[in-house]
Amino acid sequence: MNLASDNVVGMSRPVLEALIAANGGGEPAYGTDSWTVRAERMLADVFEHEVSVFLVATGTAANALALAALSPPWGAVFCHQESHVMEDECGAPEMFSDGAKLIGVPGVGGKFTPADLEARMAGYVRGVVKSVQPSALSVSQVTEAGTLYSLDEIRALSALARSKGLGVHLDGARFANAMVALGCTAAEMTWKSGIDVVSFGATKNGALACEAVIFFDKARAENFQYRRKRSGHTLSKGRLLGAQMVGYLENGHWIDNARHANAAAARLSAGLAALPGVRLPWPTQANEIFVVVPEKTAAAFAAEGIRAAPWASDCLPEGFEIGADERFLRFVTSFATQASEIDAVLAVAAR
Ligand SMILES: *Cc1c(COP(=O)(O)O)cnc(C)c1O
Repeated sequence: MNLASDNVVGMSRPVLEALIAANGGGEPAYGTDSWTVRAERMLADVFEHEVSVFLVATGTAANALALAALSPPWGAVFCHQESHVMEDECGAPEMFSDGAKLIGVPGVGGKFTPADLEARMAGYVRGVVKSVQPSALSVSQVTEAGTLYSLDEIRALSALARSKGLGVHLDGARFANAMVALGCTAAEMTWKSGIDVVSFGATKNGALACEAVIFFDKARAENFQYRRKRSGHTLSKGRLLGAQMVGYLENGHWIDNARHANAAAARLSAGLAALPGVRLPWPTQANEIFVVVPEKTAAAFAAEGIRAAPWASDCLPEGFEIGADERFLRFVTSFATQASEIDAVLAVAAR
């Protein structure tokens, strides 16, 4: 029973079916195939906007290439200090931007405020030759702590960033989980809230390996096809990515998957939070549960073959301490999570 992440499962059935359907027939190469063209049209419908779409195989490529498009080599990219781009991408954003500097912004529960951002930006002055130049803001939605920015919070951050001339990127590795939880549209969570470029994740919510970099302004996407090719993410059999995205989006499958994952997380979270000795540092808002349990509970999970991810954070709420006899864990639910798995975790925890 592996609930350590939402990438421990395979792809969902409709994505697999789309791949099987795409296996037959001759198709143009390098992302000009009919599946990719269809995926692009579907994404334009989803976002209710003309879009420039670039499919890639990993979220790291999507984020790193998107940030490279927003920042020159001497640029400063502001992001949460525990964000995926900062901590989990092996320096890919720095490499693909030819040296842009990532600047971590602190904030409890994976989030920061305009005041936090402004304070951090104050150290990087435009026009001062010794300083990297403020170029981009990257916001994660769902955040690394499984929390969400409200639409108002995204708008406030993007308005500040734009007023300072920064481009705004949204790391949407769990885009659908966030959108469904907020009950908003894709347009509202992005271009209507001041986002310039999105890493639209499909892998964790049903695809096998497929993410889209999405621009709302063609001018920003001008050289992106060269960036993607240089990174090795322009697949010669581009239908591999196009078909996954079609299978993912068709018939609202991506929405159903996210609803399923979020509902499973809500049930697991509420069940755990109701137990004595179990504490949540911040609320469960999408499909990730961060929880502090007694050491013996963590040991019982392990003994029963229940896998969660051991966690650590420097951004816990003030006064929230984790004792030596406690363990900090992350559970992540997915489209494939079974009700019986949630029952089993709760039964072990209750015991
Ligand atoms: C999983 C994830 C990504 C993408 O990671 P890859 O392993 O490169 O596909 C990006 N951002 C966040 C917040 C993630 O959780």
